Amino acid sequence: MPPVIDKNLCNACGICWDVCPQDVFTFENRKEPPEIGYPKECWYCGACYMDCPKEAIRLKLPLQLHIVPSPALYGPPKRGEEENLRKAAAFTRSVIKE
Ligand code: SF4
Ligand code: SF4
Repeated sequence: MPPVIDKNLCNACGICWDVCPQDVFTFENRKEPPEIGYPKECWYCGACYMDCPKEAIRLKLPLQLHIVPSPALYGPPKRGEEENLRKAAAFTRSVIKE
């Protein structure tokens, strides 16, 4: 499922539109949340989800793309990796809940 924007949380900052490598978002009116203009172009990289400052984006990955970062596989996070791992784990949890 392509990304879904919670328009109650979104502040129309445009970061998702800026970071998306596939130009999935359209952002005509810079005072309103972006639209999902090209949903079929999404390749589920997660950049929009990870960078949204308002946590307004939900993204449901196809089952085969689920990745669970685990210290059992990769060891404890190195210095500076904790925040990215926290975001990745939150992303995975948000996907698995749906
Ligand atoms: S990054 Fe988040 S807050 Fe900013 S425009 Fe996109 S959905 Fe809205
Ligand atoms: S997951 Fe990646 S490709 Fe899909 S809309 Fe977000 S930034 Fe674009």
